[in-house]
Amino acid sequence: MMVEKIKCDCCITGGGPAGVMLGYLLARAGVEVVILEKHKDFFRDFRGDTIHPSALQLMHELDLLDQFLKIPHQKLPRLKINFGNKAVKVCDFSHLPVQCKYIALMPQWDFLNFLAEQGSKFKQFRIIKEAEVNDLIKENGIVTGVKAKTPQGEINVYTNLVVGADGRSSVIRQLADLKVVESGVPIDVLWLHIPKDPALIEQSLGYINNNKMMVLTDRATYFQCGYIIPKGKFEEIKRQGLENFRANIISLAPALNLNVSSIATWDDIKLLTVQINHLQQWYLPGLICIGDAAHAMSPVGGVGINLAIQDAVATANLLSEALPKGPVPVELLKQLQQRRARPAQWIQNIQVIIHNRIVNPNLNRTNKWMAIPLWLFRIFPFLTRIPARIVGMGFRPEHVQK
Ligand SMILES: Cc1cc2nc3c(=O)[nH]c(=O)nc-3n(C[C@H](O)[C@H](O)[C@H](O)COP(=O)(O)OP(=O)(O)OC[C@H]3O[C@@H](n4cnc5c(N)ncnc54)[C@H](O)[C@@H]3O)c2cc1C
Repeated sequence: MMVEKIKCDCCITGGGPAGVMLGYLLARAGVEVVILEKHKDFFRDFRGDTIHPSALQLMHELDLLDQFLKIPHQKLPRLKINFGNKAVKVCDFSHLPVQCKYIALMPQWDFLNFLAEQGSKFKQFRIIKEAEVNDLIKENGIVTGVKAKTPQGEINVYTNLVVGADGRSSVIRQLADLKVVESGVPIDVLWLHIPKDPALIEQSLGYINNNKMMVLTDRATYFQCGYIIPKGKFEEIKRQGLENFRANIISLAPALNLNVSSIATWDDIKLLTVQINHLQQWYLPGLICIGDAAHAMSPVGGVGINLAIQDAVATANLLSEALPKGPVPVELLKQLQQRRARPAQWIQNIQVIIHNRIVNPNLNRTNKWMAIPLWLFRIFPFLTRIPARIVGMGFRPEHVQK
């Protein structure tokens, strides 16, 4: 069988937020880039939909913000959590030193389509869909490319650097044998849609009450609902019956009462497993991982997309000059890990604390810790600026180099 051979300066595996953003930035800097994405489009429903203030700031720095904000989205200037029947503001973005002082809620496929469309304006940008990477090409122990299968046959991409941006189940990190350090997350998420009256504005994101937790994302005509369960408990929840599950949802968010009957079968509900982990070393000669492939994030705080984007910006800033010249010096790859590993690690540490101190105790009925942040945020509202800074900006926000 004929194998198509492609040459480029940088080959990115995975067309998620990290991969497409990096592809755009490299092409913009004149680097020949090929993105390989295993799906035929970006339309995958069960993904995060949050574009954070620091990511919107990057769009501003790239002169893309006005165009970007024409895509339908909802603005979240603050985040509330409903603890039982008390709504508590936990994040207020209005004080952040950025252009957009809110989270934009936008389907991820709209965001990725927009970036890919902008990228395709540069002749150096190429994205190949339905191309699933399944092997590395090595010469004298150095990674020099990848193999991928497509509906038309196999392709071999030869490159100065392979970037693994292929998410939590990264094939690249497995093939490269990079060591994964697990933090262990004792939860899974049940993901489902609940239709809504477009007139109903429900700005709350989180609902917590009596050993149940849920996150709702308003998508104009429906809510995307993430119902949090202890790891491995889906079968038990199924045994308790659909009626019981619907009642649990209503007990958290009574406003859903009229529409919850739309959950007709268990097939309407998708189980997503949650992980927090990181690579001890992100790189090998000729290869580096970024985004979830380097540090898989829990959905807590909805910060994973933003971190993936920040990694992409740092990668472009550090490597775009070296990439067209030949194999990237390992020292530069090491610098990239040094720059991005800590911001990701700090956020993961916070996620682990939230899992251990809030999410898990609440799911197991011993929620004594919950009262403390609740009380603090109510008495001292200015404290909401701290989580706003961490969630909205992250640690060490990156800036686009002109
Ligand atoms: C239940 C859940 C909810 C979440 N909600 C949010 C949220 O609301 N906000 C938020 O910021 N974060 C959220 N996150 C985290 C967020 O999804 C990730 O941190 C983020 O998507 C990471 O981006 P990425 O580009 O690194 O990887 P991904 O988004 O996972 O993208 C990887 C891409 O690589 C492709 N790919 C995989 N393998 C191959 C292969 N072999 N060949 C070619 N292509 C391949 C995949 O198809 C995919 O398109 C959530 C996570 C979970 C588990």
